[in-house]
Amino acid sequence: MTFFDVQRVREQFPILQQQINGYPLVYLDSAATAHKPECVLQAMFDFYRSDNANVHRSAHTLAARATHKFERARQRVADFLNARSSHEIIWTRGTTESINLVAQTWGRRNLQPGDELLLSAMEHHANLVTWQQIAIETGAQLRIIPLLENGDLDMQAYQNLLSARTRLVAVVQVSNVLGTVNPVAEIVRLAKQAGALTLIDGAQAVAHAPVDVQALDCDFYAFSGHKVYGPTGIGVLYGRQELLAQLPPWQFGGEMIEKVSFTETQFSLPPLRFEAGTPAIAEALGLSAALDFLCQQQAAGAEEYQQQLLQRLLQGLQQIDGVSLVGQPAQRQGVVSIVLTRAHHHDVCQLLDAQGIAVRSGHHCAMPLLSQLGLAGTLRISLGVYNSEEEIDLFLQALRQALELLHD
Ligand code: PMP
Repeated sequence: MTFFDVQRVREQFPILQQQINGYPLVYLDSAATAHKPECVLQAMFDFYRSDNANVHRSAHTLAARATHKFERARQRVADFLNARSSHEIIWTRGTTESINLVAQTWGRRNLQPGDELLLSAMEHHANLVTWQQIAIETGAQLRIIPLLENGDLDMQAYQNLLSARTRLVAVVQVSNVLGTVNPVAEIVRLAKQAGALTLIDGAQAVAHAPVDVQALDCDFYAFSGHKVYGPTGIGVLYGRQELLAQLPPWQFGGEMIEKVSFTETQFSLPPLRFEAGTPAIAEALGLSAALDFLCQQQAAGAEEYQQQLLQRLLQGLQQIDGVSLVGQPAQRQGVVSIVLTRAHHHDVCQLLDAQGIAVRSGHHCAMPLLSQLGLAGTLRISLGVYNSEEEIDLFLQALRQALELLHD
């Protein structure tokens, strides 16, 4: 057993020091959004208190300071992902906007009838709907990689679907419904052999294990700040520099230009070319602080610790009558979905909330996956670095009680 000092971690999260309906808050919904440690709140507060100015514009001291910190945060993200340069890091509002950026720039310009886009059956709507709509617009075709019974990706079917027509493989690294960890390095390797580009949706993955975009060798990688203990309103698109250099801008305005006349504009080089308007400056600094926090936790054994919590949760769930697991993937991170054979997930969610326990019920923005599984929704339990064994036990006990009540 790894010793991970979860109490010390919890002390850094002011939001956890509260009661909900007279019970201590047990937050098991970090896949929706994670809480923010004090250092993240402080970084944002300090910016507004001491450094607030717009970036890349004025010559005064505050502006220089704000720009320096903002660009240092970009470098922090580059280091975190092991990108070759901070020029490969584009600020966005989150994973959704990162994927839309690729679709609107690369997709619009390059896709045509006869081209194929490969997505998995476990994509979040952010990755699915975006490419579906670009496919409708350009005449390209979406092809869906099916899943195996246990919720793993069917790698054989993937290989069969790959062809010279495949232009892009866009897949999630960790499923927000099943918790499945996809073999993304292998997916990228095979896509490359077929001459296709790759986009990895890392929204759920980044919080759970280190990511190295050079080792993955992907072309694009997207994630959101708010799922890695950072603020909402900020996210990242990593793109290979050679590729970004070929892409047109997608939004227009200040910050993304070199030279403007009334008739034409010369655009900045990436990443600024893709960042029209005033960016989310305090949020970028908050995200940088969150990555420092996350790396500290990873160095202290957070990954192994959360795997132990997952095992405790899975074992406990398997012993409860009327609960069945949705998917039993070979490798899982952070997320467990269950269905309740004799109760509705919304009712259970409400009964748990009455005891201060936050879990999520619904379709989790993956409607096609759920309908393929013949489900209208699941109850999803997801973990963060601040969760403790006691919380897992409290949840299991409350779930058992809720089901007893509803089964009667
Ligand atoms: N992809 C996955 C796998 C997700 O879990 C989420 C968030 N639930 C997203 C994309 C979208 O992230 P955001 O809403 O932060 O843009």
